[in-house]
Amino acid sequence: MTAKIIDGKEFAARVRGQVAEHVTRLKNDHGITPGLAVVLVGEDPASQVYVRSKGKMTVEVGMKSVEHKMDADTSETDLLKVIDDLNNDPDIHGILCQLPLPKHLDEDLIINSISPAKDVDGFHISNVGLLGTGQKSMVPCTPLGCLMMLRDHHGSISGMDAVVIGRSNIVGKPMAQLLLNDSATVTIAHSRTKDLADVVRRADIVVAAVGRPEMVPGDWIKEGATVIDVGINRLDAPEKGEGKTKLVGDVHYESCAARAGAITPVPGGVGPMTIACLLANTVTACCRANGLDEPEGLTA
Ligand code: NAD
Repeated sequence: MTAKIIDGKEFAARVRGQVAEHVTRLKNDHGITPGLAVVLVGEDPASQVYVRSKGKMTVEVGMKSVEHKMDADTSETDLLKVIDDLNNDPDIHGILCQLPLPKHLDEDLIINSISPAKDVDGFHISNVGLLGTGQKSMVPCTPLGCLMMLRDHHGSISGMDAVVIGRSNIVGKPMAQLLLNDSATVTIAHSRTKDLADVVRRADIVVAAVGRPEMVPGDWIKEGATVIDVGINRLDAPEKGEGKTKLVGDVHYESCAARAGAITPVPGGVGPMTIACLLANTVTACCRANGLDEPEGLTA
């Protein structure tokens, strides 16, 4: 079997197009411009790149983008004050605090200080609880993107066997919850899982979110299964020239694609969906804040 490649770049562009349409409707019909604020503490180079590209795409879909760049030695009190101001700013509908935070800051405390209604990352404990009980919540962006791709490919995933490899709060756990809410039979595998190969072989849907380059080989994949590769791992690529690197996922792409029915590539799979879903969440938050109908197809 040769797998269908699920093109995340194309899908994400489609989602951003839908977001842009909703933004236009909000502006024209209601005089509201959705606003997203991103708070960046410190100078982590990867975080700076993410924040820049989030800001650029926010503006591209017609929303207001606000960036708060704070020094690496910012105190908890000062950061909480910035978040409190954003919580109370009626022009801001989404707030994201770029992780990881410098070590001296309590990440849980900071995340839980964001108003749940504006928590477009979906990490606030209230949103975690709402998602866990099947209630309306803000859903973490990366798993939301994976769910959109699965729904698009399968229509319904009800009754399918799904295995999520990884149990992080950011990807693995909310992904498992979303699959469960869509009536899949869900197994969460992790670093202590005894026979991972055997667990994965039973899955109609495999979501790999581990952070270990190419750890899932093709012979673990059930013929025709759908493989969603969340991993982003940078490896040296001397074959491309001295000092060059390349990105690979958590699954071994060629061998998995030879057995899967559908697969997301790395790069160009899950990655682009994450920012698209952040923009989708901001529009959703804006609609909810203003008592308007939520955009269809952009939420879980
Ligand atoms: P994490 O380090 O928080 O969690 C990794 C999980 O993998 C843990 O729960 C651990 O139990 C599990 N694990 C570790 N070794 C294992 C093994 N040998 N077998 C089975 N499970 C094992 O990572 P994370 O934040 O969930 O991210 C996972 C990967 O996804 C990383 O590569 C990260 O860069 C990537 N990621 C991508 C996006 C995106 O936008 N595409 C977003 C977030 C994370």
